[in-house]
Amino acid sequence: MSGTFSHIPVMASEVLEGLSVKENGLYIDCTVGGGGHSIEIARRLNKGKLIAIDKDCDALDAAKERLKGYNVEFVHDDFKNVLKTLPQADGILMDLGVSSYQIDTPERGFSYKYDSLLDMRMDTSASMTAHEVINGYSEERLAKIMFEYGEERFSRKIASRIVEYRRTSPIERTLELVSIIEKSIPVKYRYSGGHPAKRVFQAIRIEVNKELQGLYEAVISGARGLVKGGRICVISFHSLEDRIIKNAFKYLESDCICDKSSPICTCDKVSEVRLITKKPLTASEEELKSNKRAESAKLRIAEKR
Ligand code: SAH
Repeated sequence: MSGTFSHIPVMASEVLEGLSVKENGLYIDCTVGGGGHSIEIARRLNKGKLIAIDKDCDALDAAKERLKGYNVEFVHDDFKNVLKTLPQADGILMDLGVSSYQIDTPERGFSYKYDSLLDMRMDTSASMTAHEVINGYSEERLAKIMFEYGEERFSRKIASRIVEYRRTSPIERTLELVSIIEKSIPVKYRYSGGHPAKRVFQAIRIEVNKELQGLYEAVISGARGLVKGGRICVISFHSLEDRIIKNAFKYLESDCICDKSSPICTCDKVSEVRLITKKPLTASEEELKSNKRAESAKLRIAEKR
């Protein structure tokens, strides 16, 4: 594996303030990555403990190195599988999506800038790669994914070219895919919305890692697993993700889920959290100057009642 783990934690001071770490508390970092947020949490603990989860073994190795000497338990899994099984926590953090390290490591295949096999798995022990999505999915399914997960307006065109191309031979490499995408977008629009392959790569990555499936449920069960007064902080990086977090928080906060047409409340729903952020927080001007990844970040915080 090439490169060192380089990733600047996004909105770190806002997250730490949001979590309001208690020195003897139990904290869960669902997406430890290189441990940028975790180290700040761990430093504030005395008798407390941190559980650090990631589905990427390279990330866990980097985090283990960085968090040496602190009371941390590492878990290699998708946080969606484990949140329900963990003890009651004082705080939970989810910093969703990919790390700069994953993007900047060419052989992981996340980047449209480097030539590599089509991989894009966060968990390299998982069976499905971008190669299977690109070469195995039907034209309709590819178009739908690119449209929904990447908001790619030329999704049909691109899907049709992919299918045409792979009839001759399978699409093996990232730059082959980039070239197909480029040729599918009319010249006039090709460079108008950033790199022409940016949206498709995002979409395929979301599909390969099933990033949105089960996220809503994980946020709900995570929040329910907090102690009274415990906090959940979630950073999302695109609108689909943020909408899921917003809706999960809204459901948790609401004290009635009866149909609007019902004259009286017949549900037993109680408000489970207090929203600390009515609107999501975004990165400061200062942070944006030094961390490009923070550009689309939205942080939402809720407190267990
Ligand atoms: N906060 C970290 C960076 C996190 S980047 C830091 O400051 O260093 C996001 C990380 O979350 C990546 O390492 C990715 O592999 C992991 N990840 C994303 N979705 C996940 C999921 N559902 N379960 C476990 N890990 C996940």
